[in-house]
Amino acid sequence: MSENASLYGTYNRIPLRFERGEGVWLITEDGSRYLDFAAGIAVTSVGHSHPHLVETLKNQAERLWHLSNLYEIPDQARLADRLTEATFADRAFFTNSGAEALECAIKTARRYHYVNGQDNRFGIITIEGAFHGRTLATIAAGGQDKYLEGFGPKAPGFDQVPFGDLDAIKNAINDETAAVLIEPLQGEGGIRELSAQWLRDLRALCDEHGVLLVLDEVQCGVGRTGKLFAYEWAGITPDIMAVAKGIGGGFPFGVCLATEEAAAGMTPGTHGTTYGGNPLAMAVGNAVLDVILKDGFLQHVRDVSLVFKQGLAEIADRYPDVVDEIRGTGLMLGIKCKGPNSELLVAMRDANLLGAPAGDNVVRLLPPLTTTVEEAREGLARLSAAAAAVSGAKA
Ligand SMILES: *Cc1c(COP(=O)(O)O)cnc(C)c1O
Repeated sequence: MSENASLYGTYNRIPLRFERGEGVWLITEDGSRYLDFAAGIAVTSVGHSHPHLVETLKNQAERLWHLSNLYEIPDQARLADRLTEATFADRAFFTNSGAEALECAIKTARRYHYVNGQDNRFGIITIEGAFHGRTLATIAAGGQDKYLEGFGPKAPGFDQVPFGDLDAIKNAINDETAAVLIEPLQGEGGIRELSAQWLRDLRALCDEHGVLLVLDEVQCGVGRTGKLFAYEWAGITPDIMAVAKGIGGGFPFGVCLATEEAAAGMTPGTHGTTYGGNPLAMAVGNAVLDVILKDGFLQHVRDVSLVFKQGLAEIADRYPDVVDEIRGTGLMLGIKCKGPNSELLVAMRDANLLGAPAGDNVVRLLPPLTTTVEEAREGLARLSAAAAAVSGAKA
C-alpha cells in the first residue's frame, strides 16, 4: 500500500487506483474492471461519466464556472423551481456538501422560532446511530462519541434518543425544542428503516408541539429508495429537508429545502456561502434531474430493486452463516453480516464487486440508479461467490 505521508491520516484507504468510470463500472490503472455498488457512497446516482452530465459539464465549463451570489444565477433559480415543484418545499438554499445542507436546516429551524418570538427554542432532538456530517454542529447532531472525541465541548442544543422510540421523543420534547431531525432511512447507521406509520406518528407529534420536522435525505433522497424522496413512502411532508450526495451525481453540492413558513426567517444577510449554487454545480444538478425526473425512471429503480431483493433473499437463504438479515428500500440496501462486515467486503472486492461498510455490522449496496437488470444479476452472482468464499473460509 502506498499511503501518502503528505496527506492527513484520516482515511484508511483501500489500495485500489481507479482511473476511469463507465456507468456502473470502475476501471483501475491496470485495466481491472470493478462493479461499483458503492457509487461513491450513493453519490454517482446516474453512474460514472453519464453522457448527458459530461456534455452539460463541458458546455458549462466553456461558458462560465463561477459567479458570486451577489448576482442572479438563472440555473440556480431553475433548479430551485424544479426541486420545489417536485417536493413539499417552497424554498431552496444551495450548499457545497451534505453537512452544510444540514447546517442550513438547523439554522433555518432555529431562526423560524426566533422570528416567531420564541428565541428560547433552539433544541434539536436527533436519533442514536444517526449520521449528519462532520462539522462541529453536525457531529453534535449525530451524537456519536467516535466522531466527537477530542474536538472540544459538544455543541449545545442536540439531544439523542434511541432509534425508533417515539415515546423517548415525546419525553424529550420541552419548551426549548425547535425541531426533530431524522433520517427516514439511516445510511451510515446500518440501513435502519422506520415504518411509514412511525413516521406519520412522528409528524403528528411534531405538529402537536409546534416542533419542526427536519429530514436528512442526504443519502436516501433523489430517487435512491425508488421515490424521488423517501418521505413520500410514508405520505408525510417535512418542514425542512437536507439533500446532497445523489443530487450532484458526483459534482459536490447539496441543498436545503423548506416550506415558505419554515424559511420565513432566512432574510437577506442571515446565511450565505461563496460557492453554493455556482453555475458549474447548478448545470450538473439540472442535468441529474433531467435523468431522474424522466418518465419511468423511478419505476426502473423499483424494478431493479425487486431483482436485488429476490437475489439477496436467495443468498441469505443459501448462506445463513454469512448473512444475518437483508434490509433497505429501493437501491439503498444493506446486508447485516454474521461475521465482521469487513470480511464480506474483502471477499466482494476479490470478486471485483464494490460495496460500502456501515454501522451495525452492515455491508451497504448503493448501486447507481441507472443499474440495469443484467448488471444487477451480474452483481448478485459476484456477491454470491463472495458469500460462498466467506462461508467456505469458515467451514
Ligand atoms: C453523507 C451524509 C451526510 C454528510 O454529507 P457530506 O457531504 O459528507 O457533508 C449527512 N447526512 C447523511 C444522512 C449522509 O449520508
